[in-house]
Amino acid sequence: GDGHINTTPKTFVVNSPNVVYTDEEIRSKYTYRTTLCTLEGDSYVAVPKETLYDFKVDRKVPKTGMMLVGWGGNNGTTVTAGILANKHKYSWATKEGTQEANYYGSVIMGSTIKLGIDAKGKDVNVPFHNVLPMVHPNDLVIGGWDISGLPLDKAMDRAKVLQPTMKELVREEMSKMTPLPSIYYPDFIAANQENRADNVLPGSKASMEHVEQIRKDIREFKANNGLDKVIVLWTANTERYADLIDGVNDTADNLLKSIEAGHEEVSPSTIFSVACILEGTPFINGSPQNTFVPGAIELAERHGAFIGGDDFKSGQTKMKSALTDFLINAGIKLTSIASYNHLGNNDGYNLSSQKQFRSKEISKSNVVDDMVAANSVLYKEGEHPDHTVVIKYMPAVGDDKRALDEYYAEIFCGGHQTISLFNVCEDSLLASPLIIDLVIITEMMTRIQWKAAEAGAAADKDFKHFHSVLSVLSYMLKAPLTPPGTPVVNALAKQRAALTNIFRACVGLEPESDMTLEHKLF
Ligand code: NAD
Repeated sequence: GDGHINTTPKTFVVNSPNVVYTDEEIRSKYTYRTTLCTLEGDSYVAVPKETLYDFKVDRKVPKTGMMLVGWGGNNGTTVTAGILANKHKYSWATKEGTQEANYYGSVIMGSTIKLGIDAKGKDVNVPFHNVLPMVHPNDLVIGGWDISGLPLDKAMDRAKVLQPTMKELVREEMSKMTPLPSIYYPDFIAANQENRADNVLPGSKASMEHVEQIRKDIREFKANNGLDKVIVLWTANTERYADLIDGVNDTADNLLKSIEAGHEEVSPSTIFSVACILEGTPFINGSPQNTFVPGAIELAERHGAFIGGDDFKSGQTKMKSALTDFLINAGIKLTSIASYNHLGNNDGYNLSSQKQFRSKEISKSNVVDDMVAANSVLYKEGEHPDHTVVIKYMPAVGDDKRALDEYYAEIFCGGHQTISLFNVCEDSLLASPLIIDLVIITEMMTRIQWKAAEAGAAADKDFKHFHSVLSVLSYMLKAPLTPPGTPVVNALAKQRAALTNIFRACVGLEPESDMTLEHKLF
């Protein structure tokens, strides 16, 4: 910056009878307050409900590895170069002046939460990263797989994302990084990707050998780098959807049998997820395909392994889940959304194939459902705004995706509001901080445990982890995966509030209600 030194304290401890810090743990007692609504006649009765929980946070920040599937792609190379630049505090010349490495675009590293107020009633905010003892991205050890064997320095050139002056600073270190050979079943990604597939494991259909090889890769990476923990994240090409077939991928046992039998409907991403689940390594899917077939979810639950997905929410959809939330909660009746994109990177090239585009179309299509369904004043049962998504491949614009959106809405007494958006999304620079957030939050969730604190026989004796399916990652994901049978929340503000308030609860703090009564009642 500008030489201004910000001396505001950035850390805190909680002083409360409900919170205990030891060298190893933070323990909190937390009263979760909800409202139970029951229908009586043609009206609801709302009853405040309280549940007491114990939370326990492991304070020891582990040495953590991040393994990316698709490491040699635009996102993989960009996030790697960005972390190295931050770690070494690099700065580089641009036409606008000197640019310093930063973590802009990361909720964890770039945003704050309101901790409370000081004696004068002024807000006190602290960096999100300091709410709990989280891993710092600079400390992540990075590795991964790619079907393209280019070392990362050359792969970063191929991506055409970063400034040349920045690339020169990380080039030598990146040249020593080479992706491990990966699993390639040509039918799952576009045929136009075949030319880069020069770094593949033998075998072009599902096999237990592939599962075992990936498990071995994770173990070796862990051992070679002295790591306590590894998080694996899929940022490889978008695959086509796998058909959901009874007896093939509907249950954990059937899925394992299908892998054994080399069934053609098991995708590479599902193989990675199964390997990670069996290895007890969290696995996050940053692409839109249905990696987590029902059998994979059941397997994760069985092994208590963490999974999360699907599809990074970086540009167009993030705007959509904020804007739609605003419009519908403002009482404005959104009647159509027309979304058009063109992009010229390898992701766009892959998506120019119909089956892979279809995965993206599905992932982008349901993102306003919960907000519409919540408003029975504007929308009749089953009524829904029209919504179309188009994606075109346009090589010239490279990684700088263009997203054009028209929101058409009905306002007071028959009037109309039309909002046109033109959003230039530097795709990999938007996605890279999301990768960091997903990895840091997922790692943090492996160190949080809870139990119901009810007295008497009903009380759970032992602490346990959150559900295997980490819906707390929803803010970063277009089509959030939730535990089977639980609702999906797409509204961006609610997703952030859930994340913030769960982390606050772990240190015994109430949700931030934004009532600020202290400024209203005197
Ligand atoms: P990319 O094409 O540059 O990178 C993907 C990489 O995956 C390539 O290097 C490719 O060789 C590799 N690959 C393909 N199949 C593989 C396999 N089976 N195993 C290992 N590697 C494999 O794409 P990108 O721009 O980095 O995007 C990656 C993914 O993230 C895409 O699916 C994209 O749809 C998704 N995504 C990106 C954004 C964004 O803003 N960048 C947003 C949402 C989703």
